[in-house]
Amino acid sequence: MKLDVFPDIDVHLRKSAQARQFTLRVSSLDGKVSLTTPLFVNTHQINAFLKEKEPWLRKRRSEVQTSVEVTFGTVLPVMGRDILVERHAGRGVTLSANKIHVPDKSGTPAVQVAVFLKQYASRLLSIKATHYAKKLGVSYSKLSLKDARSRWGSCSDRGALMFSWRLVMAPPEVLDYVAAHEVAHLRHMDHSDRFWTEVENLFGNYKKQKRWLQENGSKLHRYQFSN
Ligand SMILES: [Zn+2]
Repeated sequence: MKLDVFPDIDVHLRKSAQARQFTLRVSSLDGKVSLTTPLFVNTHQINAFLKEKEPWLRKRRSEVQTSVEVTFGTVLPVMGRDILVERHAGRGVTLSANKIHVPDKSGTPAVQVAVFLKQYASRLLSIKATHYAKKLGVSYSKLSLKDARSRWGSCSDRGALMFSWRLVMAPPEVLDYVAAHEVAHLRHMDHSDRFWTEVENLFGNYKKQKRWLQENGSKLHRYQFSN
C-alpha cells in the first residue's frame, strides 16, 4: 500500500504480524521509502510517526542522491542487492549473499571492488549476449565494457557490443534486458517497431526493465571507485 503523507515522497506501507515496532527504511539503491508496522495501527498513528521522522527521512534521502566513495563499510548494490564492503584477512575478493569480502592489503578497497565488479559484469554479459545471439542466429565480433555515463550499451555496424560495467549493480533482469537489446541491434540498427518486436521475442516483455533504467539508472553512477 502506498501512503501520500508527503507530496513528493511515496512511502510503501507493509503491515506485519511479526513487527513489534515501526521500521522506516530508505533503500540505498534507489531511495525508495518503506515503512513496516505492526498489524493493528491506525492511519493517525502512521501519519504522526512519519511527520515526526520527516527531518531524518529527508536527510537520508538526500544522502542517497549524492555520491558515495567506496571503501570498507560502504553498502553498494550488486545484482540489485545491498552488499557491504567488508575487510577480510584472506586473499582475493569474494562475494557472498550480502557482503563483498576484500583483502586488507595495500591496494585501496575501491580499486579491488571495481576490478572484481568489472570481471563479474564481463562474465555475465558474455553469457547473456552469447545466449541471445545464438537465439537470434547472429554473432557479434567483440564485447567490451566501459564506464559510459550516457548509455548502458551500444552496438556498432561492425557487430561490436559495448556495455557499461555498472549494469552488474542493477537487478539481474535489467542487465539481461540490456544484453538482449544490444544483440537485437545486430539485426536492426535502429529503434523501429521491428527492432522492439525483436527485443520482445528475445527477452519477453521488457517494459519494466526499460523503465527501471530510466528511473534508477543514474543512481548507479553515484558510486565512486577512483580513490
Ligand atoms: Zn538501442
